[in-house]
Amino acid sequence: MQDAFECSGATMQTVIETATGYMIRCKACNWHEFPKAGKPGASWSFNGDVHRPTFSPSMNELLNGEGPHHNADLPTRRCHFIVSDGQIQYCGDCTHELRGQTMPLDAWTDAQLAQHGVTAALADTADKPNEGG
Ligand SMILES: [Zn+2]
Repeated sequence: MQDAFECSGATMQTVIETATGYMIRCKACNWHEFPKAGKPGASWSFNGDVHRPTFSPSMNELLNGEGPHHNADLPTRRCHFIVSDGQIQYCGDCTHELRGQTMPLDAWTDAQLAQHGVTAALADTADKPNEGG
């Protein structure tokens, strides 16, 4: 299960840096974003490694919770997880089936990276002379 990180020739970048934060993929929710700053008291530390990221503390995201934007036709959903050393660890209070599990983060595809305007400055392409394509 660990050898996803050993793949050569692929970028295997698991974090996208955006203007507002850092996006990671989630098998349950597609993606989450750690805000760089903003909400008082809600900022995360990031070890800067886009291949094996560690964010601290955990992310606890409530989707469609109570409030003005609540949609009674949709389920309320919680995704609570820790990202550490390239692994995502879902806490037991997630409402989806991945709760309690730990797995390697999925890498973003080249197309997704390009879509978000990620440049070689962040993507580790130093040892990839020109792959063509
Ligand atoms: Zn999620």
